[in-house]
Amino acid sequence: MDLFNASTSTAMTDPLEAAKAFIVRGALVVCNHSGGKDSQRMYLMLRDIVPHEQLLVIHAHLPEVDWEGIDEHIKSTIGNTALIWTQAGKTFFEMVKHRQMWPSPTTRQCTSDLKRGPIEREIRRHLKANPRFGGLVLNCTGIRAEESPGRAKQIPFRRNERNSIAGRAWYDWLPIHELTTEEVFAGIAAAGQKPHWAYTAGMSRLSCCFCVMSSQRDLKTAASLKPALYERYVRMEREIDQTMMMPAGGKRRFLDEIVDGRTLNMDVADSDNDLPVLPLVPQTPCEASQMAFCF
Ligand code: SF4
Repeated sequence: MDLFNASTSTAMTDPLEAAKAFIVRGALVVCNHSGGKDSQRMYLMLRDIVPHEQLLVIHAHLPEVDWEGIDEHIKSTIGNTALIWTQAGKTFFEMVKHRQMWPSPTTRQCTSDLKRGPIEREIRRHLKANPRFGGLVLNCTGIRAEESPGRAKQIPFRRNERNSIAGRAWYDWLPIHELTTEEVFAGIAAAGQKPHWAYTAGMSRLSCCFCVMSSQRDLKTAASLKPALYERYVRMEREIDQTMMMPAGGKRRFLDEIVDGRTLNMDVADSDNDLPVLPLVPQTPCEASQMAFCF
């Protein structure tokens, strides 16, 4: 089969073998790196099978809402692999303020505008500047089936029709789709590396500190680790009168209700002592996150 000209959007028989065939053909292999454990594990796998000169790490920086130390963490775990640091022309809070609306798990302008868009722009630029790749690219993301039913349904290797044009063949590959969380951490340890410090501090995911798909537990942990940023989210919710998290049981919940178990009555509450205490909603990941993914 001529893989370069393959136009199918369906899964190829063996994703790893399909990917290797492209690597042998000299494709650019892009490791989308968030700084999280899955990106870190994916890089380690790619490092073992991709020639150094074909591997490129790209990180989309989200100022203000990213965890501290991601920059250093990525640099310290990829050796001298080529790295591109990119950033959107707007910040997360600017986006929310402009739209007067938070992104939702099913409509994530944050992912598309602040991550995917800038990263895809860098890939196009890199391909253009490096004709040795022949316009062939494997764009790799550390999404895993175990994370949610929605992610389990993702096709591990497929042609990206939207980004493929004459002279450019673009394939999306999920190299660690089948790995479990334990295997991810074990692979990192086996390489003599450690995951980002936020995991040790209690976070289960390393995305934005406060993510529209976070579990209640991660929101609470992030609030304790980043109190000033937490207050900024709380203030933004009140300013635009929109909740960041999806309603639970048909009831919308402001962030401080989820994190502190209280609600802020702006009309009567002048001090913390006036805040009525509400029962916590049971901890669950956002239901809608089952159909969504960020990286
Ligand atoms: S981590 Fe969450 S909030 Fe941040 S860009 Fe991704 S979906 Fe949006």
